[in-house]
Amino acid sequence: MKVKIMTLGCKVNQYESEAMKELFIQKNYEITEDDYADFYIVNTCTVTQMSDRKSRSFIRKSKKTNPNSVVAVVGCYPQVSKDKVTEIEEADVILGTQDRKQIVEIMEESYKSKKRIISVKEYSKDSEFENLSLRDNEGRTRAYIKIQEGCNMFCTYCIIPYARGPVRSRDFDSIIKEAIDLRNNGYKEVVLTGIHASSYGIDKKEKYRLIDIIEEVGKIEGIERIRLSSLEPRIITEEFLNRLIKVDKFCESFHLSLQSGSSEILKKMNRKYDYDLYKEKIELIRKYYENPGITTDIIVGFPGESEENFLESKKAIEEIEFTKVHLFKYSRRRGTPAAEFENQIDPKIKNERLKVLEEVSKKAQNKIYSKQIGRLEEVLVEKFEDGKNYGYSKNYSHVKIISNENLEGKIVSVIIEDTINDTLITSKII
Ligand code: SF4
Repeated sequence: MKVKIMTLGCKVNQYESEAMKELFIQKNYEITEDDYADFYIVNTCTVTQMSDRKSRSFIRKSKKTNPNSVVAVVGCYPQVSKDKVTEIEEADVILGTQDRKQIVEIMEESYKSKKRIISVKEYSKDSEFENLSLRDNEGRTRAYIKIQEGCNMFCTYCIIPYARGPVRSRDFDSIIKEAIDLRNNGYKEVVLTGIHASSYGIDKKEKYRLIDIIEEVGKIEGIERIRLSSLEPRIITEEFLNRLIKVDKFCESFHLSLQSGSSEILKKMNRKYDYDLYKEKIELIRKYYENPGITTDIIVGFPGESEENFLESKKAIEEIEFTKVHLFKYSRRRGTPAAEFENQIDPKIKNERLKVLEEVSKKAQNKIYSKQIGRLEEVLVEKFEDGKNYGYSKNYSHVKIISNENLEGKIVSVIIEDTINDTLITSKII
């Protein structure tokens, strides 16, 4: 029997899809990339209206390809919009962001009984971390480890706390065990990821925090690099960085979501910092690390964003010189406070603002990339193609190494010679 899994959205979703794949493989199912399958799983995202639309289209397309298949819809979309998803006739199995550990059994049951199964559970403060562990990731060099689930921050624009429930941290020992399993399967780099990784441990009696995981994974022989997914700016303190800098394997790339350069808008977003505090945190990182990669997310067109507020975001990009800015247009999500805010911004203005920020971030990025010319960088090569090796430096810059030797899976020291767009280029291997 063939299973096809389609994944939308974030790294956590990708991780969970990989974990579901493993569950099917253990039961001798074949995972396929082809259009035709017996079981389809659409692992949805609901962060924007566009993601909902994409999920609906995947669901319908799957059933059309094989009318006798079982189509399962799982993840954030059914969790927050169960009724809407239930209206889609083609969906045979509907699960939220829980119970995915039983996905194989549930789909088999629906297949045998030809009946629809709907199981979307409400979250409560007693909800537990669903341990969907992974021993193998899709790529050959970098593996993700999910360390927590859920978020208690309730930013006014964000649907995630409703889709993923409250913070639930995975057991410390289970995280370390997964890191060892991944190392045993040949992975050199791990990325500690979660919905709000900075909150790791706040729901547990044991005193382990994110930094304790980083230190412990850092001791595992064979794991050579550790990365982090998005961080909450307030986690960056002298104490945190003092411990982090001692973990040689930590790769100095930090993703700190700013969302807006305007403190007024940040307050309306219910972010727990203002722009000055954010800037201080970046300065602190740069005090500890000489050449860190600093990436961020910015939303344009949040309700009430004036021209002046928008220009503050533009200024922030120029001032901070991010390695990369992920730009988003504000998307009104029913059920979130901001969806009801007055002064929703005209889509035309959102588009114009987005364009301006795209230009500004590109310039900032080019500036920061050209500063890396002449630097010695260690690159973990992920792909070899036509005499070129591609990988990432410790600060997560994309690097192209021109060499006929296949260096895939190796960590190579190079001197950066040039930069084109968002790639560093070199043929100088040390
Ligand atoms: S911190 Fe804010 S934006 Fe991030 S997941 Fe939580 S509520 Fe959403």
